[in-house]
Amino acid sequence: MKKIDIILLKYGEIALKGLNRPMFERQLLANVRSVLGDIGKFHVRKSQSTIYVEPVEEGLDMEEAVSALTKVFGIVNICPAAACEKDMDSIAETTIACLAEIETEGRTFKVEAKREDKQFPLNSPQICREMGGRILKNVKGLSVDVHHPDILVQVEIRNKAYVFTQKVSGAGGMPVGSSGRAALLLSGGIDSPVAGWMIAKRGVVLDGVHFHSHPYTSDRAKEKVIDLARLMSAYTGKINLHIVPFTDIQLKIIECCPKNYLTIIMRRIMMRIAEKIAIQTGAQALITGESIGQVASQTMESLAVTNAAVSMPVFRPCIGMDKEEIVQISKKIDTYETSILPYEDCCTIFVPKHPKTKPSLSEIEEAEKALGNIEEMMNKAIADMEIIQP
Ligand code: ATP
Ligand code: MG
Repeated sequence: MKKIDIILLKYGEIALKGLNRPMFERQLLANVRSVLGDIGKFHVRKSQSTIYVEPVEEGLDMEEAVSALTKVFGIVNICPAAACEKDMDSIAETTIACLAEIETEGRTFKVEAKREDKQFPLNSPQICREMGGRILKNVKGLSVDVHHPDILVQVEIRNKAYVFTQKVSGAGGMPVGSSGRAALLLSGGIDSPVAGWMIAKRGVVLDGVHFHSHPYTSDRAKEKVIDLARLMSAYTGKINLHIVPFTDIQLKIIECCPKNYLTIIMRRIMMRIAEKIAIQTGAQALITGESIGQVASQTMESLAVTNAAVSMPVFRPCIGMDKEEIVQISKKIDTYETSILPYEDCCTIFVPKHPKTKPSLSEIEEAEKALGNIEEMMNKAIADMEIIQP
């Protein structure tokens, strides 16, 4: 589109939320304002299930605004529009110029008009008829379909006239902040950023929890996780990332527990620490990137033993997905390239050669007794954690 003067945002599912609707709308407006605040000064307002975004300053990058808005959950469609003078010749000229930029051959259209300025000489049905006629006459290959048009031409008469012909798909879902808070166990891998994205899409605010094993894992590995949280935040809003020093606990597990139990015990302690952090931040659930059968620590038996370490609900949105499906999403949300950077994670450093694939809870709990006062070590790790907002 040559020039974008205004952007219309359409929201779908949240429009159905009955009495909660004002809360969802308020949250969506706040999130839209927050995202645009990083780009420049915009006027954002809501009217009849539509949000209007207008630049307040000259020279704002409207393409950048559209692109940022495609990552705001709760928006179904984004319609960039052109403004023109309030007369039918200008409106028709602008509309035809807009249609020239999109594929029209063999496609159908419909005109919808809204007349906020009642001084305008034509009423809405008259505007639709007049514009429909002019479009048919001037744009080749188009025909009218009032029920299922390929292209919806929208004309709004306000302080100026606005014409919308394009529709960019939004991210869908619910506005982040409308469905509570959860703590995401964020590793440097492919799966956990995708898992966090999927839960944030349902309106949940994320806290990040990352376990770092300095000096066995490098600063670069930590930077990678910070980068992932930053990339995710384009969708999820700011994430408070809790970086928990995990070396002492890992060394203690290695010292005290049978080798083939290392991973599962380590994962249980990660969950317990994450749950403690979640309680501190007011989060109501944990999120992991686990998927059935992906590795030894993700068999049904291992998942059950890991799950038993905490009482908070654990959300595993990747649980039934193939790796390839998870990869597809990670590419779509731009975390893939960072996730595949080859920096070691604390899980990959201490992996036993023959991890137990079918542990029982009683044998693991028995083995954990050798750890002594692990509670104290967990509290120390939490006391020493670093919190950053990438
Ligand atoms: P990912 O699942 O993110 O691709 P991965 O496959 O290497 O990474 P696994 O070892 O399969 O991770 O661990 C399963 C889940 O446990 C991860 O999805 C993540 O939620 C959590 N997890 C693993 N390692 C860490 C870590 N160092 N810090 C925080 N969470 C972790
Ligand atoms: Mg994984």
